[in-house]
Amino acid sequence: MGLFYVDGYNTVKFLLNLSNKYIFMKRVLITGAAGFLGSHLSDRFIKEGYHVIGMDNLITGSMDNIEHLMPLKEFEFHHHDVSKYVYVAGDLDYILHFASPASPIDYLQIPIQTLKVGSLGTHNLLGLARSKKARMLIASTSEVYGDPLVHPQNEDYWGNVNPIGPRGVYDEAKRFQEAITMAYHTFHGLETRIIRIFNTYGPRMRLDDGRALPAFIGQALQGKDLTVFGDGSQTRSFCYVDDLVEGIYRLLMSDYAHPVNIGNPDEISIKDFAEEIIKLTGTDQKIIYKDLPKDDPKQRKPDITRAKEMLGWEPKVSRAEGLKITYEYFKNYLAKKSAQEAQ
Ligand code: NAD
Ligand code: UDP
Repeated sequence: MGLFYVDGYNTVKFLLNLSNKYIFMKRVLITGAAGFLGSHLSDRFIKEGYHVIGMDNLITGSMDNIEHLMPLKEFEFHHHDVSKYVYVAGDLDYILHFASPASPIDYLQIPIQTLKVGSLGTHNLLGLARSKKARMLIASTSEVYGDPLVHPQNEDYWGNVNPIGPRGVYDEAKRFQEAITMAYHTFHGLETRIIRIFNTYGPRMRLDDGRALPAFIGQALQGKDLTVFGDGSQTRSFCYVDDLVEGIYRLLMSDYAHPVNIGNPDEISIKDFAEEIIKLTGTDQKIIYKDLPKDDPKQRKPDITRAKEMLGWEPKVSRAEGLKITYEYFKNYLAKKSAQEAQ
């Protein structure tokens, strides 16, 4: 199998020689490519035979997440803030808009950028998708349901969001993102896909991003007590990253334009989750309780009936398996870091 590079008139494409047949590689733009989810998506699309254009301004992401992709001809990286005009030369088949701060401490520290990337950034990318006749998928979130009054949450629930509360900068940006995406679909006939992602975890999360899972594992590994906010009775449902990526891929390839929840319905209280991590890591540390952040959702669990029916998707990785892999990743990450510091 040979790989050819055709560099013509503003369009860079690869041709794959498969038993004397020439096939154009499809081109996908992934925003937020240096982040946790964007980097896993880039891996998946490279594996599927795409040419991936990763775009990121590194505000919460890291080049470490994509350093293994940088030498590849099938991958190119553009350092760019998508809230500003976005230009990409050549054809595009798909755009996946994943750029946005995603953890509560990130979007509380950079609230305006969070609002801008969900609104102005999405508008820029929809315009780009329209000009390239590309299909666009946006990363929405279970946060559009706010502190939900319906449980579990299905896609027909409109949510319970405090627009002027601290989380409003993220939740409302994502709600606007869904609205403008649906408007481009309805008024311009653009092919669009909306995924509502529930709490997802796995390797390449940032240890200091403040989310419960990296916080607990990081604390256990560094000999600190685990900080549970409130009394820990609030619930979440954690999905392993490989399951999420499969759901995204299936939704993108489907013809379904309405929102689809992707998440693992295996719900657990945060206190029980902290106890699971204490057991997994074998730490002697204990749980300490801190104030519950304002507007912290009390319960969250996806209803995945639609994903099952429309995409034939359901999660495959149990929390026990996923946590083991993620724990090993963080252990190696910290060992590597301390070895580097010792040099
Ligand atoms: P992340 O912080 O690891 O990745 C986000 C990436 O976007 C980072 O690399 C960051 O530098 C980049 N970015 C932010 N603003 C940008 C801008 N203006 N221009 C270019 N790049 C920019 O977060 P993540 O967990 O990988 O989340 C990715 C997407 O998935 C986000 O849109 C988030 O809202 C959504 N999401 C994630 C989860 C989850 O559990 N991880 C849940 C729901 C939704
Ligand atoms: N949480 C906690 N201790 C921490 C970090 C988070 O108890 O050190 C709680 C947080 O208040 C929330 C839950 O864990 O109730 C999940 O938080 P995360 O930031 O991971 O996700 P989100 O709130 O966005 O679902």
